[in-house]
Amino acid sequence: MLIPKQTAIPALVRVKPGALDRMGIYAERHEFIRVVLLFSQDLDDRLLGRLTSSLRSRNIQILQQAPVESIGFEKATELFSRSPANADAIIGFGGGKALDVAKYIAFLCRRPYLSVPTSLSNDGFCSSQSSLTLGDRRRQLPSAMPFGVTLDTAVCLNAPEILWHSGVGDLISKFTAVIDWKMAFHATGTPVDDFAALLSDASVYQFLARPKRDLDGMTLLGTALLLNGISMSICGSSRPASGSEHLISHALDSVSKRPRLHGLQVGVATYLISLLQGQNSKRIAALFEGHRVLVRHRKRSI
Ligand SMILES: [Zn+2]
Repeated sequence: MLIPKQTAIPALVRVKPGALDRMGIYAERHEFIRVVLLFSQDLDDRLLGRLTSSLRSRNIQILQQAPVESIGFEKATELFSRSPANADAIIGFGGGKALDVAKYIAFLCRRPYLSVPTSLSNDGFCSSQSSLTLGDRRRQLPSAMPFGVTLDTAVCLNAPEILWHSGVGDLISKFTAVIDWKMAFHATGTPVDDFAALLSDASVYQFLARPKRDLDGMTLLGTALLLNGISMSICGSSRPASGSEHLISHALDSVSKRPRLHGLQVGVATYLISLLQGQNSKRIAALFEGHRVLVRHRKRSI
C-alpha cells in the first residue's frame, strides 16, 4: 500500500539577478500586506533601501523593521515578544545569523517566513532548523521551512568572496554526509531515505559541472544549497546534509577562540573525512585548488 508522505517545500522560489527589487510584487501576489522585516546589523544601507522601496512601491506595510544583533536564544525570544501580532509574514534579510533568527521568530509567531539571503555562505537559508546559541553553545532548534526564498544572484555575487568559499565548503560536505549515512545503515541499520540522499548528491554534482564564481555559478550554488534544504525536509533529519565533517566543525566552534566561517571549517573537515572514507578526495582537492580556497584562507589566518 502506498503511504502518502508530506514534505514542506517553499511555495515561492526566485533565483535571479534583480529579484530583490521585486520583493514587493512577490509579497503582494501572496497577499502579505503587513510584514515584519528583520535584517543583518551590518547590512549595506543601499540593499536595505532597495528592499523597503520595493515593498512600499506595492503598498506593503512594514510594521516593524529591526536589526538582528545576536543569535542568542534570549535575544531572539525578546525580539519575538516585540513582534506585532497582526503581521502577515516575517522577512529575514541579510546573512546567515539574521536569517536564522528571523526564521525562528516566524516559527514562534506561526507566520510564513520569507528568506532573502544576501550571500551564499551555507545551506541555512532554506532549511527547517535555526542555528542559535543557548548559553554559550550553538544549537539547532526546530523551525519551519521558509514559505519563500528570494535569492538575488547579483547581490550574492557582490558579497565578499570568502562567503562564496564558505558556501562551496558547506555544499561539498554533502558528499561525506551521504556516505556517512550509508555507512551508518550498514553498521547499525540507521534507515536511509534514498530519494533524500540522491537529491543531496545530485545537487553537488550539478554544481561541480560548472563551479565558477559568476552569475550562473551563483544560480547553481544557490539552487544546490536550496535543494539540500529540501532533502533534509524530505527525510525529516539533517543526515543528507550533515555528517562527521559537521561534527568536527561543531567541535571547532566550541574549542576555538576564533571559530572560522561554518562552511570553511566544514569544507576542510570534508576533505579529511573523504580521505578516511576513501572516496571523492581527489574531486574535492581539485575543487579547492581550482578556487585556491585553503591557500587564501590559510594565509589570512597566519
Ligand atoms: Zn552546514
